[in-house]
Amino acid sequence: MKIFALPDIAKIQAILFDMDSTLYTHDEYARTQIDLPIMRLAQLQGKTFEQMSGEIAEYRKNWAAEHKGQAISLGNIFLSFGISIKENVRWREELYQPEKYLGEDIKLRAALEPLASRFTLAVVTNNPVSITERTLAVLGVNELFHAIIGLDTCGVSKPHIEPFMRASILCGAVPENCVSVGDRYDIDIALPLELGMGGVLVDGVEDVYRLPELLA
Ligand SMILES: [Mg+2]
Repeated sequence: MKIFALPDIAKIQAILFDMDSTLYTHDEYARTQIDLPIMRLAQLQGKTFEQMSGEIAEYRKNWAAEHKGQAISLGNIFLSFGISIKENVRWREELYQPEKYLGEDIKLRAALEPLASRFTLAVVTNNPVSITERTLAVLGVNELFHAIIGLDTCGVSKPHIEPFMRASILCGAVPENCVSVGDRYDIDIALPLELGMGGVLVDGVEDVYRLPELLA
């Protein structure tokens, strides 16, 4: 866990969580979320999975080189390969199966319950709202979240100002009173910090278990 900024604890009103690799950690499921859409794109373009993966890896590398080493989201990569956000949402809804990989997480619930009693919790994710609802349900924490801002809420992929501002508004908290928690600095933390939010980079759900202690 790395804390980049944190408002005074008394000022914090909302915590905005990334979902994947933040509220759960599951390498195989994470892998399918990258590989399955690439497989579909490969089919669409008449290429092999290996060719398509290679092209996307190359695109990521070049993009990073042109943007001071920053990472780009898969949604934004797919935009450059001609797949709209709307189409991307549909693919994810068809391909992703959180129930196949994830289960109830009692430790996560034990960490989020005390937080939900003090702060307004939201999820800000590049997954569609429907996949997010299914994921939170299978983890056993869905009703602890006041708002879900997904890829189909604003029609843009993080990092983009809109999903974070929408979350801040839905939680009734100005950005300075929000904390963004996620596993990817360039996607989940950098922009929230620019907006004046706190930013906590986690290595996975194990770090989320420790948040009540951090915010005590
Ligand atoms: Mg993530």
